[in-house]
Amino acid sequence: MLNIVIFGAPGSGKGTQSEFIVEKYGINHVSTGDVLRGEMKNGTELGKIAKGYMDEGKLLPDDLIVDMLASKLDSFEGSKGVIFDGFPRTIAQAEALKKMLAARGQEVSVMLDLEVPEDELMVRLIKRGQETGRADDNEETIKNRLVVYHSQTAPVIDWYKNDGKYQHIDGVGSMERIFADICAAIDGLK
Ligand code: ADP
Repeated sequence: MLNIVIFGAPGSGKGTQSEFIVEKYGINHVSTGDVLRGEMKNGTELGKIAKGYMDEGKLLPDDLIVDMLASKLDSFEGSKGVIFDGFPRTIAQAEALKKMLAARGQEVSVMLDLEVPEDELMVRLIKRGQETGRADDNEETIKNRLVVYHSQTAPVIDWYKNDGKYQHIDGVGSMERIFADICAAIDGLK
């Protein structure tokens, strides 16, 4: 089983690299942000709740996200592994993921931390907002998301370092070079 956590600030390229990883390694992909946008589009109760948080760049409550992820995991029964994109975003979520996988006799294989400087993140997200119209990719919400990233999400880095799963990936450069570094990290796993 190959269970990969792809980690990084908003705009660090998690979604893009996840697609490459899925194609090469044939594992399932779960992006909590994509799941929430799907719920919003379908007008579900969860979607309505999510919208309020996402528009402000805030994180949803851990229990909601953890339940959502657990049902996703159940739907992947029999798969070769999973790439977790946008999750965990808090230490509580990292602990919940560890428990959830342990209950299935599994564990996280590696946490890949895509590092990109803040000014570059800002440029990328504003560009994405202009190109895709994604509601939370506007300057004010982006700033909030980066504050939330530093205060609530970045502590997850040390948590994975302590768990012995952390790998740094330089997230600046061509998508191909970044993907090559990711493959080297994955292929180097024992
Ligand atoms: P990005 O990483 O570019 O900010 P995502 O699509 O991963 O974008 O997430 C968008 C928003 O969805 C977040 O700002 C947050 O409101 C919500 N969200 C996504 N994943 C989580 C999570 N694991 N925990 C709490 N909220 C989440």
